[in-house]
Amino acid sequence: KIGNETLKAELGRAAWKLFHTTMAKFPDKPTQDEQTALFSYIHLFARLYPCGECASHFRLILNKFPPQVSTRSNAAAWACHVHNEVNKSLNRQLFDCSKIGDFYDCGCADEDDEGKK
Ligand code: FAD
Repeated sequence: KIGNETLKAELGRAAWKLFHTTMAKFPDKPTQDEQTALFSYIHLFARLYPCGECASHFRLILNKFPPQVSTRSNAAAWACHVHNEVNKSLNRQLFDCSKIGDFYDCGCADEDDEGKK
């Protein structure tokens, strides 16, 4: 049982890292297609997340707080908020979402300017 909890927590940390980094790299001014893509990604993430109990709990949170995909900063703030909703339900400390700005950096900021590297 303890092993299961450890694995579930590891999966959670990896998933949140990917989730928040995806928001941090989302365009400032996304096209309609990019907004649709992120909206679908979030819903599919909530549908397919491997911990089924976590996924169904997260889907309830999504129903209450629909994904905000209009800009990078809205998406990042929304993701921080829903992660805090999970933190609350697990009696964890809340994250200060005003600090989300530079926290998630994938080291891949310049990959669109291939020629400049
Ligand atoms: P995590 O919550 O994994 O956070 C990792 C790091 O992210 C933190 O150390 C901090 O630096 C940063 N962080 C914390 N809060 C925020 C925030 N609001 N915004 C941005 N960054 C932040 N576990 C369960 O036992 N039951 C569940 O129902 C459950 N549901 C989950 C649903 C989803 C969608 C996901 C991705 C995970 C879920 N988990 C669940 C796992 C749980 O959220 C944690 O990932 C796990 O318990 C490990 O917790 P942690 O304290 O290491 O930090």
